[in-house]
Amino acid sequence: MHYQHIVIGAGSMGMAAGYFLANQGKEVLMLDAFNPPHEQGSHHGGTRLIRYAYGEGVEYVPFAIRASELWQTLQAETPREIFKQTGVLNVGRSDGVFVRNVCESAKTFELPLAVLTAAEVNEKWPGLTLPADLLGCFEPTSGILLVEECIAAYREAALKAGAELRLNSRVIRINPQQGNEPVTIETADGAVFTADAVIVSVGAWAGELLQQLDLKLPVTPIRKTFAWYEATNDLYDEQSFPGFAFDLGDSAYYGFPSVAGAGLKLGRHDGGLPINPDEPKQAFGTVKGDEEELTEFLRRFMPQVGALKEGKTCMYTMTPDEDFVIDLHPTYRNIAIAAGFSGHGFKFASAVGEIVSDLVTRGETTLDISPFSLDRFQ
Ligand SMILES: Cc1cc2nc3c(=O)[nH]c(=O)nc-3n(C[C@H](O)[C@H](O)[C@H](O)COP(=O)(O)OP(=O)(O)OC[C@H]3O[C@@H](n4cnc5c(N)ncnc54)[C@H](O)[C@@H]3O)c2cc1C
Repeated sequence: MHYQHIVIGAGSMGMAAGYFLANQGKEVLMLDAFNPPHEQGSHHGGTRLIRYAYGEGVEYVPFAIRASELWQTLQAETPREIFKQTGVLNVGRSDGVFVRNVCESAKTFELPLAVLTAAEVNEKWPGLTLPADLLGCFEPTSGILLVEECIAAYREAALKAGAELRLNSRVIRINPQQGNEPVTIETADGAVFTADAVIVSVGAWAGELLQQLDLKLPVTPIRKTFAWYEATNDLYDEQSFPGFAFDLGDSAYYGFPSVAGAGLKLGRHDGGLPINPDEPKQAFGTVKGDEEELTEFLRRFMPQVGALKEGKTCMYTMTPDEDFVIDLHPTYRNIAIAAGFSGHGFKFASAVGEIVSDLVTRGETTLDISPFSLDRFQ
């Protein structure tokens, strides 16, 4: 049971990594605690925004551009629809860091971006009512990734290229050795595997599992909620309404037009309750504020959106600076880590898969991953 590479956690990042390794002709085994795509981690709910003019920081732009190229490659290989180019409207105050970063990203990398006053936004999208102190930055090339379809497409392509996937196989022990010797991995059902190199991409479970590798990652799993609302199709459907990201200074929200009649989808990005990923999550609507914080946003900015249809919960894995962790282990250089995606990682999953596969095969990668290094926490 020896492989060149084992990927622990075949979710958003891990399934992509397995695809890139298998495509290089490597013997690769992917192990997952469930059957991805699934609803136990961070990758369900139908949709994820992909934006390139990046409010979280200009340093993410080359990474987003590379991710987009790789999503397009995947789109060309799969019969599944994985991307919808709805455009994304970024909203905030003109003096806020988010809007400033969006504009600076667009300028530096010559990305198409229309900067609109509140009145212009309200005229272009009659489903919106922005007050005069907010600006809208519309990026027409951005849009929506259909998250489960992306993971299913990578899964199919990885298996076709020769990767193996073992489902319902929770890894309970990782035993590395000094000097790049094979790593031994044990699952909850008693199977034992060895690999020349390993990728650990276990999402909300990273803090727990990485302790075995003497790493105390400051990552916190957070319970997040999102919901779909009745929405008049001509105002809010995917043909006429964009994805959106609002940074209001004291709160941040994101959402999606009604895709295939599902309803307008809305989530709050900041806040949320720290949780243990192994304990059942409290269902949407059972924690005070779940519904109120969303309806308050709709009342202010999208008053024509109708009643709640359905709400769900999901998990973010937050780092203190909300930047990712993508690095080789400081001692065991045949172990790569992809963790702490802080609620904005999915759009990059294609590029993260490529990067970690580079790290375990070549020890380096072409994109600058220094902002995501482990040593920033020391
Ligand atoms: C509600 C919500 C909205 C979001 N919106 C956006 C957005 O609009 N745009 C964006 O870019 N990002 C968004 N994100 C963030 C993005 O979805 C996550 O950053 C990303 O999915 C994290 O990927 P991951 O691979 O780390 O985790 P996951 O996709 O959860 O994968 C981890 C995998 O590891 C497996 N695993 C765990 N422990 C073990 C173990 N011991 N052994 C074996 N397998 C194990 C799990 O079963 C799982 O399949 C959102 C997240 C949420 C929750």
